[in-house]
Amino acid sequence: MIRATRPESQVLSLFLRPMATDSNKFQAIISHCKEYGFIFPSSEIYDGLQAVYDYGQMGSELKKNIKDYWWNSMTQFHDNIVGIDAAIFMHPTTWKASGHVDNFNDPMIDNKDSKKRYRVDHLIEGFAEDVRNAGDAAKADAVLASMDALLAKDDFAGLKQLIDDNKMKCAVSGTCNWTDVRQFNLMFSTEFGSVSGEGEDNKVYLRPETAQGIFVNFLNVQKTGRMKIPFGIAQIGKAFRNEIVARQFIFRMREFEQMEMQFFIRPGTQKEWYEYWKAERLKWHLSLGLPADKYRFHDHIKLAHYADAACDIEFEFPIGFKEVEGIHSRTDFDLKNHQEFSKKKQQYFDTEINQNYIPYVIETSIGLDRMFLLIMSNAYTEEDLSTPEKPDSRVVLKFPAKLAPIKMAVFPLTKKDGLPEIARGIMDDCKKSFRCFYEEKDAIGKRYRRMDAIGTPFCITVDHQTKEDNTVTVRHRDSMLQERIPIDAIKGMVLGAIA
Ligand code: ATP
Repeated sequence: MIRATRPESQVLSLFLRPMATDSNKFQAIISHCKEYGFIFPSSEIYDGLQAVYDYGQMGSELKKNIKDYWWNSMTQFHDNIVGIDAAIFMHPTTWKASGHVDNFNDPMIDNKDSKKRYRVDHLIEGFAEDVRNAGDAAKADAVLASMDALLAKDDFAGLKQLIDDNKMKCAVSGTCNWTDVRQFNLMFSTEFGSVSGEGEDNKVYLRPETAQGIFVNFLNVQKTGRMKIPFGIAQIGKAFRNEIVARQFIFRMREFEQMEMQFFIRPGTQKEWYEYWKAERLKWHLSLGLPADKYRFHDHIKLAHYADAACDIEFEFPIGFKEVEGIHSRTDFDLKNHQEFSKKKQQYFDTEINQNYIPYVIETSIGLDRMFLLIMSNAYTEEDLSTPEKPDSRVVLKFPAKLAPIKMAVFPLTKKDGLPEIARGIMDDCKKSFRCFYEEKDAIGKRYRRMDAIGTPFCITVDHQTKEDNTVTVRHRDSMLQERIPIDAIKGMVLGAIA
């Protein structure tokens, strides 16, 4: 391999902008996502819709690649896991049985002056962070410990007292004039059929999680697939939550996608399977080459209504350590309740022990959009390439090659002398195997930078030497190193990197 002979600094004033600092990196990522066709605000021409986003031409490719990577590692690499694709609408009783009608609430508090509504845990966590940043870590820890204890008991009066005692302020009005703490259900509902206004009978929900589509199909899949416990059912699909505090870009959306897997097991084995899936899921993240020191587990203190153990896999986003995936030991809560509400047995006959039982379940649930944000945050890099003669910088998305929206770009050095034809030939040979991009406009350096900005791992340049010896220049995204390789080695090189 040889270093680029011509400094890429001969390229662009376009990329010369102030480097993002730690504090504005998140904002820089959001702008980059918009500028390069990854993510747009929904219905932007009407000023957008809060916490709803559209994936653009690059974003939809990246998202699909993440989906495929998850789907294949769940279904293709595990003999005992199969996938389904259930409908978003489900019989309304599903959500009574699952507990979502009664329990899918968040404690909220409103500031009377600004009318701004806060999730109580977010208000308190924000306050604790400020206190910590001001140097009083002990007080921050004490406040968080009190909050956890009060949340665990659903002690709303106590939470209000904690907020009052610490004189927590609204970020908008700056006052401490709070309402009582109240519960707020996060499910969206709509009506089925042509007649509106028929009340509860017509009401259907937009599913707040994909898991229930799996539970109600447990026996269908088990019987038709002749599945034996332990086995899993995986699903990728949209979920909807009327999130109150829906900021932070695609981290918390009202319409998002989940990749969930429910693993059905013999009762009594949940502890070992819970540990197994914790380890397996972290391994999956690290298999993408993501840095281990940016991951940590967070065990739940207050367990959801269905769980006997639960933890989050957290990642260090530019906005701090945040949940990307949940691992939940759901017991037999869901199947038992579906049996009770539907009056249909949800049992499995275990031939090994000659017993009928309702299986226990370990769930792994990852947000596709959050995983997208994780990949984007980790990949986004600003590099200072200045030389004494010339200031220069580049923005490069260092995606794992297998997730990159475009794997390879092909550039004829000039638009004439037969070079475009050779470049097109390379495209035609490779585009059935992976996503390629062809471009002949602008100087090569400029074309490289455009590919850096969307994370394309390989750029192939066809020049006059190609006509003599059938070799091309490969320029590697992260190192910017260039080397000459034969045309017939291109496909193998890229396939090797994305395998
Ligand atoms: P949070 O505490 O952040 O609200 P949660 O614990 O309610 O998340 P789960 O119900 O366990 O989340 O959902 C599993 C995964 O779905 C989460 O780990 C997250 O990646 C994703 N997810 C949940 N809510 C949203 C949302 N509003 N927008 C985007 N992704 C979400």
